[in-house]
Amino acid sequence: FAVLDPTRRLAVDVIDRYESAAASSRRVVSLLRSDQRIDERPDAPDLAVEAGAVEYDGVSFAYSGADTPAIDDVSLSVDGGAFVGVVGPTGAGKSTLLKLLFRLYDPDAGTVRIDGRDVSAVTLSSLRRGVGYVSQDPFLFPGTVAENVAYAEADPDREAVVDAARLAGADEFVRTLPDGYDTEVGERGASLSGGQRQRLALARALFVDPPILVLDEATSHVDNETGAEIRRCLRAMAGDRTVFAVAHRLSTVRDADRILVVEDGRLVEDGCHEDLVATGGTYARLWRTQIGAVTAADGGGGEKTAP
Ligand code: ADP
Repeated sequence: FAVLDPTRRLAVDVIDRYESAAASSRRVVSLLRSDQRIDERPDAPDLAVEAGAVEYDGVSFAYSGADTPAIDDVSLSVDGGAFVGVVGPTGAGKSTLLKLLFRLYDPDAGTVRIDGRDVSAVTLSSLRRGVGYVSQDPFLFPGTVAENVAYAEADPDREAVVDAARLAGADEFVRTLPDGYDTEVGERGASLSGGQRQRLALARALFVDPPILVLDEATSHVDNETGAEIRRCLRAMAGDRTVFAVAHRLSTVRDADRILVVEDGRLVEDGCHEDLVATGGTYARLWRTQIGAVTAADGGGGEKTAP
């Protein structure tokens, strides 16, 4: 993987910020007003991710101008290679929690560490190489499918692009496009569905082969896919990586090694599916609601694999 040159690194930052801001104009305004800056220490070393262990130690964060913190004193520790689901109501702080991992924002208090290393003490480029991110609103720029997948590299190996797309479950639909991987997408290019855009964004993240991967699932993009399909795809691409998957449908992450339940910026529950259901707390309530919704939509019939 070629080291990002400063211009591209800036572009990556801008795209990250664009994506996080695109959701609403209110957020754009707050972003423009933001005085929160991400600085790199002059002598910062590169982060070399080994196990991919992740630790949050008393982490709090408030968006500038907000009355209440989006993340409120969260501590957690995740082993390298774990597949971690992150669930909770909309606005609970799931996305924000994960954005702190790759320094889209810096915490107001506490420390985030990868393999024991404070993420604010390493170079941003090495951190962003170590942590792949697929946002809810994937940004495709004008260019071909292949260029969008490999945007961090000037002269990408086509085979590597196809491998990443295959792993992301994108290869199949890309081949049906008029010019396959050379089809123009983005602003004036081929119109892709939300799910297809997200798969290309996933392919882009996988192309870099990051040891840690953060997936922020968008509610609306998964409607046409079965939970089983999504689970198969996630398992396949997870490999040895540490994966954090924000999920709106609980079934997406029910076989995760661990599920973090976030509510009002706090980590309220933490465990595997069976344990959390048995505990009878927030997760169990959300699970029952989603099963109920599926069963009702089914006419009470018998969706046995759940929401
Ligand atoms: P979730 O991912 O669980 O839906 P978020 O992390 O997106 O929750 O949001 C947590 C809280 O922070 C919400 O109250 C949301 O409105 C607020 N928030 C999210 N992004 C921004 C932003 N860029 N500027 C200001 N407030 C934000």
